[in-house]
Amino acid sequence: MSRDMNGSHLDHLFSNSAARLDRWRDLNAKAQRWAAEARAGKSQEGSAPVQGALADLRAMEPYFAYPGAQLLRAVDDRLADGDALGTARLVLRMSNALLSGSYRYDESEWDAADDTSAEAPDRLPPGLGAGVRRPYFETLFVSPMSATRAASVCQEIRQLRRPDDGLVYEPVLVGSFEDAVLATILNGKIEAVVIYDGIPFASKHDANLLRDFLAAYAHMDTYTGVSPSEIGIKLARFIANIRPELDIYLLTDRKVEQLAGDSAASDIRRVFYEAEEPMEVHLNILEGVRDRQATPHFDNLKQYAMRPISTFHALPIARGKSIIKSNWIRDFGEFYGLNLFLAETSATTGGLDSMLEPTGTIKVAQEKFARAVGADHVFFVTNGTSTSNKMVYQAVTKPGDIVIVDRNCHKSHHYGMVLSGAQPLYVEAFPMTEYSMYGAVPLRTIKQALLDLQAEGRLDKVAMVTLTNCTFDGHIYNTRQVMAECLAIKPDLIFLWDEAWFGFARWSPFLRPRTAMGAAAALERWRDDPAAQQAWDAQVQELGAQWDPKDPRLLERQLVPNPKAMRIRVYETDSVHKSMSSLRQGSIVAVRDEDYDHHVSAFHEAVFIHASTSPNAQIIASLDIARRQMELEGYELVMRAIEVALAIRREIAQHPLISKYFSVLGADKMIPPEFRPSGFSDYLAAETNWLTAVKALKDDEFCLDPTRLTLVCGTAGFDGTAFKNLLASKYNIQLNKTSRNSVLLQSNINNTRSDVAALIKVLLDISEGIEARLRAEGEAGRAAFAAKVASLMEDVPNLPNFSRFHDGYRDNPASATTEGNMRTAFFAAYDEDECEYLPLMNPALDDRLKNGPELVSANFVIPYPPGFPIMVPGQVIDADTIEFMRKLDVKEIHGYNAARGIKLIQPSTISGKSKG
Ligand SMILES: *Cc1c(COP(=O)(O)O)cnc(C)c1O
Repeated sequence: MSRDMNGSHLDHLFSNSAARLDRWRDLNAKAQRWAAEARAGKSQEGSAPVQGALADLRAMEPYFAYPGAQLLRAVDDRLADGDALGTARLVLRMSNALLSGSYRYDESEWDAADDTSAEAPDRLPPGLGAGVRRPYFETLFVSPMSATRAASVCQEIRQLRRPDDGLVYEPVLVGSFEDAVLATILNGKIEAVVIYDGIPFASKHDANLLRDFLAAYAHMDTYTGVSPSEIGIKLARFIANIRPELDIYLLTDRKVEQLAGDSAASDIRRVFYEAEEPMEVHLNILEGVRDRQATPHFDNLKQYAMRPISTFHALPIARGKSIIKSNWIRDFGEFYGLNLFLAETSATTGGLDSMLEPTGTIKVAQEKFARAVGADHVFFVTNGTSTSNKMVYQAVTKPGDIVIVDRNCHKSHHYGMVLSGAQPLYVEAFPMTEYSMYGAVPLRTIKQALLDLQAEGRLDKVAMVTLTNCTFDGHIYNTRQVMAECLAIKPDLIFLWDEAWFGFARWSPFLRPRTAMGAAAALERWRDDPAAQQAWDAQVQELGAQWDPKDPRLLERQLVPNPKAMRIRVYETDSVHKSMSSLRQGSIVAVRDEDYDHHVSAFHEAVFIHASTSPNAQIIASLDIARRQMELEGYELVMRAIEVALAIRREIAQHPLISKYFSVLGADKMIPPEFRPSGFSDYLAAETNWLTAVKALKDDEFCLDPTRLTLVCGTAGFDGTAFKNLLASKYNIQLNKTSRNSVLLQSNINNTRSDVAALIKVLLDISEGIEARLRAEGEAGRAAFAAKVASLMEDVPNLPNFSRFHDGYRDNPASATTEGNMRTAFFAAYDEDECEYLPLMNPALDDRLKNGPELVSANFVIPYPPGFPIMVPGQVIDADTIEFMRKLDVKEIHGYNAARGIKLIQPSTISGKSKG
């Protein structure tokens, strides 16, 4: 894909920071070439290429503090003097400073006169061991002042710095609403925004690129008529929508007291009277960022580790003495370092909080996490989202409740229902048979289930809808639409969105609306809008206040919930360790439930049931730290993770040899067209421009998480497992999911562009290997290869749907819906006398399938891959499932003992039970 910034291709939307650095590399290369020519005394094009590169770059520079107007002017001056060597030196230094980030801590980088560091740039990133370096950020000042005045204001702001500030920031000054929005989008280092009231709307810079960006983020025309008195508040709202974590300040000469009480001002951290001391503003900026930086539990744990403490509680490794003094296990201490043991404690006194009844630093850490993800409450969980999910089931469902749930969801959901006694009503995702995987559950299927229950007068039994967002393979739901339409049928439904993989999405303005918490917030805003009531009234006009659940229009049209009746009851679980910097098993339950008060005690019981009484203090600390990171640099990191993924897609698709054997599936392959009304097909498709992609992300029923890449390897003659093993053993590349003919690659906040290069090199190496082998093996080899590819790509087993629960495990065998009493079946299997085993290849199995009695599974059978239960306790096993199992070529099948066979509940037992 072209790196032309004026092109309308999608990747710039996500990769603007990388695009900017590319421009700097380009400028530097041209400056060095010019200098080399000058040195050799044979200048050809002179400074024209450098001028051109500089012109391209200039559109973005006003939105970044470094290098800033002064240094750029110095480059202009040298260019004007025809000073090739001087230009090259300065440009080299600036681009090095940008690439290495050294401008953040080396003040000499800001000085145009100082050329000395050009030869030995400090390439060290301000990483570990750079403790003395103060964290650096940028503050956006949006003010109508002139350029000269702006420069002196910057100087004044810098003069407010004091050595003990702990943090240091550089100002970025822009002059309009539009410029402020662009700076917020482009510059991930911005942490605070100071808006002067009365700024103009339109940018003075006129670049198509900028217009495109603005168009992609919002309908800016709805803002153009904003009165000057409102513009500050409107800008604050706009910025808060893109990056809610930023601290926004408003400087105004209107009545501060009035504004501060205005509900529209809720996005603003503080309002200042314009004449107020600049020092006040400065101190507030620092305090706001420090508040996000503070990690109460981790900070407290560090303090604790430094104190001289004797322990008489049961935890020998606490303080490390049992390790450091040992003859035999010293290396344990040496490997992890003493701090780990100094921070280990089982105490909940002496300033350390209790995970089970937090009242101190853990409570505050949870509150901060709740703020960060837009929840009312967050609960830390130290044994993974497996436990978080079970806690939610335990807290909000009880025996006999129905839960509408994706059958392919993580096993913790199925086990959660065994524990709570809730009855699963399994709904099916659309299949992607060619790749032996499932997509996501169509909303129509969920509505149908609810309407069927309504038709039978049993809607009151449904407690919850549970879906995985995004799915392992990257299908993202339209969370808001799903909840709105379900609430139209049952206004008090609870939703559990398993976002184990998706926690990072909060920090992308494009993905956030599709997170559970983002959608819950949007629903709440919608409900407060008079248009909501109008939409409801119009629907009542059309369908009647009491609709007939069998009315076919209900499935065809988008249903509107009753704003007066609907409740917002949303639970989101995140494996913080899967997408953010937490230690393994760090997980959260985020709650936005208006009726949570009904559940407070049940929720606490659920915590007590599932949480260890010895929670790991380091995991809790890492949750606190992960939140800090995301609130301060999440926006930039997530943008980069997306950019890395798009770069991988692009490189694979464009490479003539790699693309012969490998491909990454786009939305056109992974989402049937009826779920993509926007027409979006792929992130790389030529016809995809920003607006289509943004529309797809906003409106389509499903879209794809760009960071998850399904790489088809069957076309290279590898099944997923073989390819995964090859990558691991020969190339040290790890990945965790495979299908029959694909593997899943994933980028996250730790990936950089060099990872892209490394991966592409490996794929190239493998592709060349295949080519060489095919050349060597001649016709026979090619035929064998083609046969292997055909078998992997075409001879794929049908994916079995959930059949049904045996009537003996159904409260209403006559019902149209298929929920069942899984818990009873689960425990029935505890009695070995009441069970039997049938080997998969035994003809008796086929006989039973044909002539009965029905085969009833005694337990969960979960093959990896695909990783979802193809049998659950109490399920009637049908021919499709047996066929699938027979074709399955995986070794790891949980719940299936190949030597004994499939474990079944004896038919006599079931009928006996249901009679009794
Ligand atoms: C990994 C995963 C879980 C379980 O989370 P852990 O943190 O590993 O316990 C739950 N649901 C989904 C969708 C997952 O991918």
